[in-house]
This record gives sequence, C-alpha cells and structure tokens, in this order.
Amino acid sequence: MNRRSPFDRIPERDWNDWQWQQAHRIRDLAELSLSVELTDEEVEALDTSADVFAFATTPYYTSLIDPEDPNCPVRRQAIPSLAELNVLDSELEDPLAEDTHMPVPNLTHRYPDRALLYASHNCPVYCRHCNRKRKVADPKSAPSRGELDEAIAYVQATPSIRDVLVSGGDPLSLSDSRLDDVLTRLRAIPHLEIIRLATRTPVTLPQRITEALAERLADAGCVLSNQMVLLKGINDRADVVRELNHWLLRHRCRPYYIFQADAVQGTSHFRTPVETGVQIVESLRGWTSGLAVPHYVVDLPHGGGKVSLQADFLQGRDGRMLDFRNYRGERFDYEEGF
Ligand SMILES: *Cc1c(COP(=O)(O)O)cnc(C)c1O
Ligand code: SF4
Repeated sequence: MNRRSPFDRIPERDWNDWQWQQAHRIRDLAELSLSVELTDEEVEALDTSADVFAFATTPYYTSLIDPEDPNCPVRRQAIPSLAELNVLDSELEDPLAEDTHMPVPNLTHRYPDRALLYASHNCPVYCRHCNRKRKVADPKSAPSRGELDEAIAYVQATPSIRDVLVSGGDPLSLSDSRLDDVLTRLRAIPHLEIIRLATRTPVTLPQRITEALAERLADAGCVLSNQMVLLKGINDRADVVRELNHWLLRHRCRPYYIFQADAVQGTSHFRTPVETGVQIVESLRGWTSGLAVPHYVVDLPHGGGKVSLQADFLQGRDGRMLDFRNYRGERFDYEEGF
C-alpha cells in the first residue's frame, strides 16, 4: 500500500497494531490537513458539523483517501461536507425507530425471532452517512455493563429470539476480553441459535482482525456476509458493485444486502433514487453468478422493517399461463400446475 506523508515514517509495527491506529485517530482539521488537501468547503464543514456528528478516522482509512480528489469515494464517506447541515423535513433523527422499539436499553426487538444488541457506541471511523449518528460517537450514550446485562437478560428471558445481531457503533472497537464477555454470555443462552457480529473494521481498521481473533472466528465456524449501503457517487454503479461482489466471493464473503440509504437527518446528498438499486440488481441477475446478486432492501421509516425490491420478470398471466421476460429481455411462457 502506498502510504503518504505523514504516514510513511510510521514504523510497520505501530501501523499494523489496531490499538495504535485507534489511539492515533485523526480527529481535527489540523491533523487531517497534513495528509489530505482539503477544499474550502471541507474546512468549513469540519468546523460547523462537529456539533451534529463527530469527525474521526483512522490513519489507515485516511491513507486510502486520494489527497487531491475531492470526489474520492473513501474521502466522501469520512470527511464531513456542508450538505450534512441540510436537513429535510422528512428526514429523521432515528429513521428506523430503533430507540422506540427497545424493550430494554441497548436492544431493539422488532422482528419475531431476532434482536439487535448495541454493544458499543464507538467506531474507528465515523461514517458520514451513519444512520445511528444520533448516538454513535457520544461517549455518554455508550452502554454500561449493567445495561448490557439487562439486554442479555432480555434475550435469555425471550425464547422466541433465536438470532442476535451484535452491533453498535462497532462492536470490534471493544477489546477482545470485553467482546469475549458479551459473546460468551450470549452463547450460554440455549435457545439462541445464531450470533451475528456487525462490524465495519475490515474496511476501516483491518488491523483489528488480528491473527488471534481470526483464528477464533474461524474456529467458531463464522461465515462472512457483506452489507453495503448504496451511496450516491460512491458505489451506485453496476460495474462497481459487480467488481466488489466478485472480490467478496473470491474472499469467501457473501454479498448479502444492498441497503437503500436511510432517511437520516443531513444525508440527502448520499441518497440515490430507489430505481438505481433496482437497476443494479437487475444488471447482475443472469449476467453473473447468482451468489454475486445481493438482496436490495429498503428499511422502512418508523420501524416498518426491511422490504426487498427487484426487477419484475413476471410480465403478466393468463389463467395458469405466466408470461416472463428473462435477463436478456426475451419472453417465455410458463404453465403452472393445477
Ligand atoms: C436488519 C435488522 C435485523 C436483521 O435483519 P435480517 O434481515 O435478518 O438480516 C434485525 N433487527 C433489526 C432491528 C434490524 O434492523
Ligand atoms: S461503523 Fe456503522 S455505526 Fe459506526 S459510524 Fe459507521 S455506519 Fe455508523
């Protein structure tokens, strides 16, 4: 990797140490301007957006930014823009009503058989499109051990929950021992079949996946899935998504979801038309491995939950005779049984 000044002088041992990366996060204009040529707009945004959502990025993630390109996709995800101050009437602070569907603090229980646990409110990089920016980065909102006890006790007392998503913030910003504590306590619940760990560290702080952690996860039989948020000007092109998904499959990671960006306050500059997502999945179906075709979903405001969208291949029906078009646009009849 091409490390730019001021990172090129950092010893390899430090650079590869996640705790070093975490401790040396870039948190202000002065530090950031050492490695990125900031635009006037970014300089202003770094100052004015601080009250709305903190800025922080790891040296590693910053080193991926093209220092000269204001539209660099990594940069747009990490560096504030003035558009964040533009809040639409329809945008919400808590777009998925996660904080209202909380039977106990730090746990959202919306679907019948699964629940979402917030294990940390810290993240290595604060993604500018974050749908939890209302609480992420705010040290006062981080769950105390007692609150986590309560959330875990709720799972224990609710036999219908067979799947828990450990999320945050980024749960991998916890130390191995704190993470171990949470996972061990969840694992001890007999009716809990699946534990998922929702993290962005493979992207923002890959050093966090230490040899020891990787071995542990592999021994535990973990499977990997990718959830990508569709972002305007960043990953909203079919060829980009196809290349990403092929890369993921080569690395044994399932492209699971493409999320339509949630209507979070101050993120309208990131949102694409829904049609873009439909077209992306349509351009994959048939043209590449079915495994490379994720579900495109919209998580409905006010806690409606996720719904999937796809191109309509069924064109019509006449009794039991169905009229389909295929991925190439050719038409085929199919007769149902009776
Ligand atoms: C997304 C989500 C889940 C998990 O949904 P899956 O479709 O099973 O991946 C669970 N709980 C909440 C509140 C969610 O938002
Ligand atoms: S890692 Fe997730 S929770 Fe953290 S800032 Fe990014 S999107 Fe938000």
